[in-house]
Amino acid sequence: MAAETVFGKIVSGEIPTRILAETDRVLAFPDISPQAPVHIIVIPKTTEYADVTELAAGSPETLAEMVAVAKRLAEEHANGEFRMIFNNGASAGQTVFHVHAHVLAGEFEESRLV
Ligand code: 5GP
Repeated sequence: MAAETVFGKIVSGEIPTRILAETDRVLAFPDISPQAPVHIIVIPKTTEYADVTELAAGSPETLAEMVAVAKRLAEEHANGEFRMIFNNGASAGQTVFHVHAHVLAGEFEESRLV
């Protein structure tokens, strides 16, 4: 069970955001601190699930809908190809405990290290 989070407040409208996509179950909006030319957060509207393992067990159809929304947004805002990242747990970088996917698309710079 997710505690109240900033994404729950976005779902309820308490925190305004630019909605990029909305379905019965899913909402998508730009990440406030983008790490790629296209960086979108895709969430289920339900606040029931803290991370993707809980969502996959409890509502796999919502997870599938998140993937479909990500694909549609990548087609609208990039060339249709995208990365979809779920951080699971604080030590894996998760800071908001309302399950969410980072959808990243657009050109990336070449690595400067290899
Ligand atoms: P996490 O580290 O939990 O996987 O990702 C949380 C993401 O939410 C971060 O990339 C952060 O920039 C984004 N974020 C945090 N607060 C807000 C907010 O109020 N609005 C939006 N649009 N994104 C947020």
